[in-house]
Parts: sequence; structure tokens; C-alpha cells
Amino acid sequence: MSHRVTLIPGDGVGPEIATAARRVVDAAGVAIEWEMAEAGAEVFKRGDSSGVPTETVESIERTKVALKGPLETPVGFGEKSANVTLRKIFETYANIRPARQIPGVPTRYAGEGIDFIVVRENIEDLYAGVEYLPTKDVAVALKIISRKGSEKIIRYAFELARREGRSKVTVATKANILKLTEGMFKRVGEEIAAEYPDIRHEHLIIDNVAHQMVKNPAQFDVIVTTNLAGDIISDLASGLVGGLGFAASGNYGDEVAIFEAVHGSAPKYAGKNTINPTALILSSVMMLRHLGEEAAASLVENAVYVTLEDGKAVTVDVARQAGDVEESASTTGYTDAIIGNLGRKPAMDYRRARVERSGPPPTTPSRWSYGPNVGETRSTLVGVDIYLESDETPEALGLGLSALAEPEFQLQLISSRGTVVWPAGSANADPVGWWRSRFMPLDDATDIDDQAITRLLDRIALAYRWVSVEKLRRYGTEEGFTRAQGQ
Ligand code: NAD
Repeated sequence: MSHRVTLIPGDGVGPEIATAARRVVDAAGVAIEWEMAEAGAEVFKRGDSSGVPTETVESIERTKVALKGPLETPVGFGEKSANVTLRKIFETYANIRPARQIPGVPTRYAGEGIDFIVVRENIEDLYAGVEYLPTKDVAVALKIISRKGSEKIIRYAFELARREGRSKVTVATKANILKLTEGMFKRVGEEIAAEYPDIRHEHLIIDNVAHQMVKNPAQFDVIVTTNLAGDIISDLASGLVGGLGFAASGNYGDEVAIFEAVHGSAPKYAGKNTINPTALILSSVMMLRHLGEEAAASLVENAVYVTLEDGKAVTVDVARQAGDVEESASTTGYTDAIIGNLGRKPAMDYRRARVERSGPPPTTPSRWSYGPNVGETRSTLVGVDIYLESDETPEALGLGLSALAEPEFQLQLISSRGTVVWPAGSANADPVGWWRSRFMPLDDATDIDDQAITRLLDRIALAYRWVSVEKLRRYGTEEGFTRAQGQ
């Protein structure tokens, strides 16, 4: 059976590693019709601010599978990352990054049996990229976590564990600090875990995961976490097993899967024929499994391992880690060696015994128990936070806003960067000119509604520059907002 795959060579070292991966996959005898497509730097330069041309989107819509090289992202201004755009438009919500000990690559952990998978939520969190400048000198990003998004990725992690014969899923969050966002992820983890009695579930705080990962990485099996944390710990994980040159990944959605190396375009190595293509070749192994080509996937994986085990033709980054810079091969030389080794088996079996590895990891949309929940749960409006820009002192602001709060509201507190500064509060808080003022009904008997909030805003606007408003709501007995630090 022939497959169609969209191949995006990408920027910097991208074309070299994409060529290497394609050559190895073709040599493994899988019939793939490659559709070449463009994304990244050149596209941005032509004035397309998405970095992903329509033809590329259409190609992936047709093929449903893409193998891509790294794409350069303009840093800190202007255009969005073309990588993130691709992941989002195809709703590839599961970013799977395995970390497995690689033969022939000396690391501090060699022999400890590292073999775990980081399952990173790929759509939400701070990577939603919704940012504002509420004042010229204060920047704010929305951390978006939904019950549905959390359930999708956590269920994915448990399904993946079951399918690969793994025994434990670690849900990693920062729920101790971020009670509502990361807390939701943790709670959904507990709910989903109850449906998988055959898989051990634990929750760890993400900073402890970083610590444990350095101290005793072999304890991990599957780690599922939110987007930003997953990005960071998966890079840490790749450092444990030899570096970015070996870190493969797959972005899976219900329709589309995109496979790529974890590393970037490494521009200083571009065009030198020295870059290590292993990460993208191992990403192609994940792709072959997704396509149901288990035999070819194992053939390529084994050939990579044999080549690294032999150590005769390895790229300079591997040779350097082995302390032998003289004996390095070019990207093409290393690729030739892998192709030459197709059919050989490594001396050691570096993989755990796994069951049913082929085909895409199952997704189970029919079993989602959470919809967006719009309108299903009745909420009560209990107050409002009004953010404003001001260079007044907390005392002056407290006095002014208290007067404007009446007749419907009372000013409950003012906070600066989350810490209460009025009525009493930290004397050390260093103001930045952006304040949150929290208004609650004047007394328990006062019902407030949208009109009351609008009237309050009108009064405040007479004396202050308000910048944004957040309604405070209660869902049953659950408060839909957090307290301020020091409240
Ligand atoms: P990078 O991953 O490109 O390179 C960092 C360093 O890691 C390199 O200098 C090199 O020492 C090492 N390295 C990376 N890949 C290697 C390989 N295959 N073999 C050997 N050594 C390797 O990170 P960066 O310099 O921060 O980013 C460069 C560009 O890539 C930026 O524009 C960034 O936005 C983009 N980027 C893209 C992706 C992606 O497409 N998924 C991911 C990360 C970064």
C-alpha cells in the first residue's frame, strides 16, 4: 500500500535532515509519495505573516501526515511561530516526545534504563499566545486550560500507556500555585485515572518532576503535562539521553499527525553537512508506526541503533560526547551508514517489550465526557475585578475607588501583581502602575448584575483609566476566582 506524506524541509539544517530522513525511509522499502511543501522563514520573507502558505495547508489536509524540518521563528515581535500555527490549525493536541537511552551515546545515565514518554498538551496554556499590554510597561498572557483539552490529552496518555504496555502515568502540574488552571488539569487527571485501574497514577508537582528527572529518570514511564511545562521538561529529558540531536516527536490530532525533531533550525550548522539527523530519522520511525508500517519502523530504528552501536560513522556531536572528535562522519556519511545497516539488529534490545505498537495511538472522542459545558452549570455573579492604570499610591486609590463603589458595591481590596496592597497589605509591594481593584456587593442582600457593573465602570471612568474587567462568578459552591496573595 502506498502512503502520501507532506514533506516540509524547513529552515537552517532542515533540508539536510529532511533529505536524510527521506532517504532512510525510502531505502526501508515503504512506498511513500512525498508531497513537497514549504513553511517558515522564506514564507515570512515573502510577506505571508502566518509562515504557512495555503498550498501547504491543503497538502496536509490531503495527506493527513506531515514530516517537517525545523522552522525559524522571529523572536519577540511580529509573526507567530509557524510551528505553533501548524500544530494549531490541525488541532494536533498531543505532542509525544519519547526519551530513551540511545546506544553508543555516552551520557551520565547510560545503563540506567531511561525509557519514558513525555505527553505534552499542545494547544492550550500560555501557548495559546493570547497576550496584552494593559499598560505600556506591563505585559500579560492568558493561561488557558479547559476541562475538554485536559481530558483529551490525559486520556491520550493513559491510552498510550496501555497500548505500549507501560505501567505508570505521572500527571505533572503546578496545581499548588495555580489552583484553577493547573488545578483543573490535576483534577481531570484523577478522574481519568479512575477509569484505568491497570495503570498506576501519580501526581507530581512539575518542579519536583524536573528534580526527579535529573536524580532518578528511570522511575518515569509516561508523563503527561500542560503545554509550557511539557516543552521544558521534554527538552530536559532529551538532554538525559544524548541531546537534541536524538529527540524525536510526533504531534497527533484526531485527523492529522505531524512528525518533527524537537530541535530547531540550528542556523550556525546549516549547509555544513555536519548536523546529526537522528532526531528527524527517529521521528520518521514514529511516522512509520503511525502509518501502520511496523516492520519498516523497526528496520529503520534498528539500523540507527546498530550504526550508533558500531560508532564507526557518527556525526560530530556524538563523536565529541564520546571524546573522539577526529572520528566523525558527515550527515550524508552517517545516513549512508544507516542505510547500509538496514536489516541488522542491535546487540541489545533497547526497547521494552511492547504490545501492539503499530498504527496511530487511539483517540477516543466518543468517550469524552466533557463538552464545553456552556450554560450547563448555573453560575452566580458575586463581584467584579476591575483593572486600572494609575500612578497614585494604594492609599489614594483605596480612598478614591471606595467612594466610587457605592451605592451598589464596596471596594474589597486592591492588589498589585497579585499581592494585596489595600486596605492593609504588603508595605514592600513595588507598584508597576497596573492595579486590580475587587468590588463586592455592598451587603449580602444586594443582587448585582451586568447593569450594576456597567454603572460602576461609568463611575470609575470619571476619575480613572480602567483597562479591563473580570467578572467574579460562583459555580454552585465553587468559587470561579482565586484569592489575592495576602488576602
Ligand atoms: P536549536 O535547536 O536550533 O539549536 C540549539 C543548539 O542545539 C545548536 O546550536 C546545537 O548546538 C544543538 N543542536 C540542535 N539540533 C542539533 C542536531 N540535530 N545535531 C546536533 N546538535 C544540535 O535552537 P535555537 O538556536 O534556540 O533555535 C534556532 C531556531 O529554530 C529559532 O528560530 C527557533 O525559533 C527555531 N526552533 C524551531 C523548532 C521547530 O521547528 N520545532 C524548535 C525549536 C526552535
